[in-house]
Amino acid sequence: MARYTGAVCRLCRRENLKLYLKGNRCYSDKCSIERRGYAPGQHGHRKGKLTDYGLQLREKQKVKRMYGVLERQFRSYFKRADRQKGITGTNLLILLERRLDNVVYRLGFAQSRSQARQLIRHNHIAVNGHKVNIPSYLVKVGDIIEIREKSRMLGSITESLEAMAPRGIPRWLEMDKEGFKGSVNSLPVREDLTMPIQEQLIVELYSK
Ligand code: SF4
Repeated sequence: MARYTGAVCRLCRRENLKLYLKGNRCYSDKCSIERRGYAPGQHGHRKGKLTDYGLQLREKQKVKRMYGVLERQFRSYFKRADRQKGITGTNLLILLERRLDNVVYRLGFAQSRSQARQLIRHNHIAVNGHKVNIPSYLVKVGDIIEIREKSRMLGSITESLEAMAPRGIPRWLEMDKEGFKGSVNSLPVREDLTMPIQEQLIVELYSK
């Protein structure tokens, strides 16, 4: 599966926003946004006014990068969101939020979504008692997401669980830390997503 393999802090600096792609480091003073809060590259210090298209493009890139989704898959989420009832932009964000890699990250089993993807791909995660190794799997209400028994002593998982306090668990999920499992109480709603996202700009971009 294709994925971005470059330096992730550059992505945050490009969007001028913490995207929390590196786990603990993002909460420390080593964060590149704290140290070098300007865009990467030779012309990073230049500040120009963005056109409407530029604003829409940046918003789309920001959300894609936040969830670690590449263009083709992101567009297919958009098409699916557009076919659903309700507000397309909100539907899009909720679809992304329901991805299994995001849920594993939100539950604190991983320090970033990319680490969560790796846990899933390496068969450490089960949903409703069955191994699932597809990061894009969409969770539903009532799903139980757990670390498989043989993987519970993995250093990266115990470290993540210890370090997750600053993030907290979103209210649509419930966590049983001792049981290494979490459940989906309800589907997320727009108010559960606290990152500064203007999803309407993405809808405008794709509707041209
Ligand atoms: Fe982004 Fe985290 Fe890097 Fe900071 S440390 S720039 S939040 S990935």
